[in-house]
Amino acid sequence: MLKVEHIGIAVRSLEESVPLFEKLLNAACYKTEAVASENVSTAFFRQGETKIELLESTSPEGVISRYLDKKGEGIHHIAFEVADIRAEMARLQAEGFQLLNEMPKDGADNKLVCFLHPKGTNGVLIELCQEKEGGPSQGTPS
Ligand code: ZN
Repeated sequence: MLKVEHIGIAVRSLEESVPLFEKLLNAACYKTEAVASENVSTAFFRQGETKIELLESTSPEGVISRYLDKKGEGIHHIAFEVADIRAEMARLQAEGFQLLNEMPKDGADNKLVCFLHPKGTNGVLIELCQEKEGGPSQGTPS
């Protein structure tokens, strides 16, 4: 794995948490993006090499909504950047880790992503991500 690409934090309201994190980090949110497949809206902040991703649920049946009901707001996942997501998925599967998706899927921020089941990683939801071909997207104005 190359580095911690971002840390995902589940929040109830981006409207409230974006200004809070702008104050906390002393940095403007540079991008908001909805990920329809995951029923989430995301907001991103850069801190050096690493990003913070705030996640708000857009559906009561979404994964973030269920997470908030169970655990409340807080750190939801840690994302590692990898050079070759398919190779890394195969390596981890061979090591006995359980992948939550068999194929890389589209994530926020122009990434291919795969999640590992937290039962096999000491309760920490791990995301693998790889930048998609074509370089970083420019994002959408928020
Ligand atoms: Zn993430």
